[in-house]
Amino acid sequence: MSSIKTNLSAVNIRTIKAFSDNYIWAITGKNNNSNKTALVDPGDASVCIKFLEENKLTLTTILVTHHHPDHSGGIEKLVTYCQEKQWPLTVYGPATENIPGLDIKLEQDDIIDLPEIAINFTVIDLPGHTAGHIAYFAINSAEPILFCGDTLFSGGCGRLFEGTAKQMLTSLTKLANLPENTAVYCAHEYTQANLMFALAVDPENKELINYSKQVNELRAKEQSTIPTSINIEKKINPFLRSHKQSIQASALLFDKSIQANSLDTFTTIRRWKDQF
Ligand SMILES: [Zn+2]
Repeated sequence: MSSIKTNLSAVNIRTIKAFSDNYIWAITGKNNNSNKTALVDPGDASVCIKFLEENKLTLTTILVTHHHPDHSGGIEKLVTYCQEKQWPLTVYGPATENIPGLDIKLEQDDIIDLPEIAINFTVIDLPGHTAGHIAYFAINSAEPILFCGDTLFSGGCGRLFEGTAKQMLTSLTKLANLPENTAVYCAHEYTQANLMFALAVDPENKELINYSKQVNELRAKEQSTIPTSINIEKKINPFLRSHKQSIQASALLFDKSIQANSLDTFTTIRRWKDQF
């Protein structure tokens, strides 16, 4: 976690807190003369407008990962706000979800070129939490960056509202195969609660125990635990570790009827977490 520094990237990434535990991400060009800004998952327009005005930023782009209102509920007000300001705005989102206000509908491998912010994103399809959930992966930063909405959290993963466990495992495997140093910007501060479950599933994991201590210290100071990284999550997140013998053994203790394989293990620990 401490190794993640956004100032290594070609962009600056700032946090806008919304609701009780949502993070809306604001991306601006690293060039100080640039005030052009992209927002990821603006569920609440009012906190975004306050942020833009306080920092004298111009909204040019909205990137949405999925249709849930805490991610998409601010779009229409932000569209109106930009029209009043006469700022050209483009709203991107998943092709297969019904989200009012989208200009561009995205599918796997689509490229979004944002020259005013000096970044390109590649779209990754991630069904599971919702049927059409997507993520945005940036390929032109000093360190890769990922905005993954409610699919991968630090220490956890999204609930299966519309997709199957098999789809979610496939989606998470795509993310696990991204470069290890990818900075992962998820949409909620769920880390501490996720790690309590992770420790129940994987109690002997020393890296998880150490990470949990770091997270508890950050949260005691009300500091964010995000971004995390693919490297950290592969070491500590049980939902990226369902192929590991230790996780399979815990899943078998929870449900003796399952097979010791990745999919049965993933399915079981997702069900276990839902009732934890
Ligand atoms: Zn969601």
